[in-house]
Amino acid sequence: MEKVLELLADGGFHSGEALGSVLGISRTAIWKKLKMLEQLGLQIDSVKGRGYRLHPGIELLDSERILHALDPSVQKAVVVHTCLKTGSTNDLVRAIPVAGPLIKTVCLAEYQSNGRGRRGRSWSNPFGSTISLSVRWFYRAGMASLEGLSLAIGLGVLKALERCEGSHLRLKWPNDVLWSSANGFKKLSGILLEVHGDPTGDCEVIIGIGVNIALSPEHINSINQPAVDMQRVCGSTVSRNRVASELINELCRTLDIFSQQGFGYFKEQWEQYDAFAAQDVVLDASGKTVFGVASGVNGHGGLLLKTGEGMIIFNGGEVSLRAMTPEKRRCGKSE
Ligand code: ATP
Repeated sequence: MEKVLELLADGGFHSGEALGSVLGISRTAIWKKLKMLEQLGLQIDSVKGRGYRLHPGIELLDSERILHALDPSVQKAVVVHTCLKTGSTNDLVRAIPVAGPLIKTVCLAEYQSNGRGRRGRSWSNPFGSTISLSVRWFYRAGMASLEGLSLAIGLGVLKALERCEGSHLRLKWPNDVLWSSANGFKKLSGILLEVHGDPTGDCEVIIGIGVNIALSPEHINSINQPAVDMQRVCGSTVSRNRVASELINELCRTLDIFSQQGFGYFKEQWEQYDAFAAQDVVLDASGKTVFGVASGVNGHGGLLLKTGEGMIIFNGGEVSLRAMTPEKRRCGKSE
């Protein structure tokens, strides 16, 4: 599959016969490989008399290009791996031998068969249409001081997407990046942090990021909450390799600042992008529904919720925040 993709990467049409003769396999074998790619979600145009091509706008990952576009200081601090297909980039990045304690390992895949969201939910990413990126970072000051990291990462992702011409972007606590459209908020990016190690000493942080770049309308509609991609946000084609480089640049900067100054450095900026600031919201906290007014975050990234019983602070974990719909508002008031 990889070799067929390399030939299609130029965006031009290639006949089955030409592809077959370059790779030394039959037209039928080529056709089977193309079908396998389509089953993973890659859009391939097939035009009678001209052959096959990648659907316009699809750009495959290129580790050289990604590395080249990194800030010089970041180039020295990371190793970047790309692959065609994996279960989850969070798992893959942990399996790659570490190049050094100060080096961040970055791993990107064209397709994940088992992309994860929080609390066992799944993250969908058709082949070549999203950025699925994971970073492995070693941190010495203990898990206990990682509070707020997930929010700082969300802010970093938003900033990277703004640099790629994304606008009207907002953050939903703790770290989803949303696009604010005339029809309400739509999810553009999700983040999953996995932390292992010592509460007060060495630990390992795996940061998984999914950003939608160019999804088909069928795919967008198959997601069970309003979703969007960078192409729709920007109104033009967006380079996946550029988004990957900007994400790596911004993540490295964020991790370096966070390890020196903690979440306090990011708090004010996070609040400027808060999608639900001062709005009625509903929280699912370990199965318990709590209604209130979103009132920003504290210095550790905890969500402040003004409720009938006073201000309550919620910290990550099993908590999901949603906008209050008129329906939920009626339920909340009648309780
Ligand atoms: P919360 O973090 O508040 O609990 P969430 O429901 O968005 O919110 P996550 O774990 O962050 O949960 O993300 C997983 C969810 O994201 C899925 O259940 C699905 O609704 C949605 N989702 C899955 N794939 C995509 C995608 N490619 N683009 C946008 N949304 C997606």
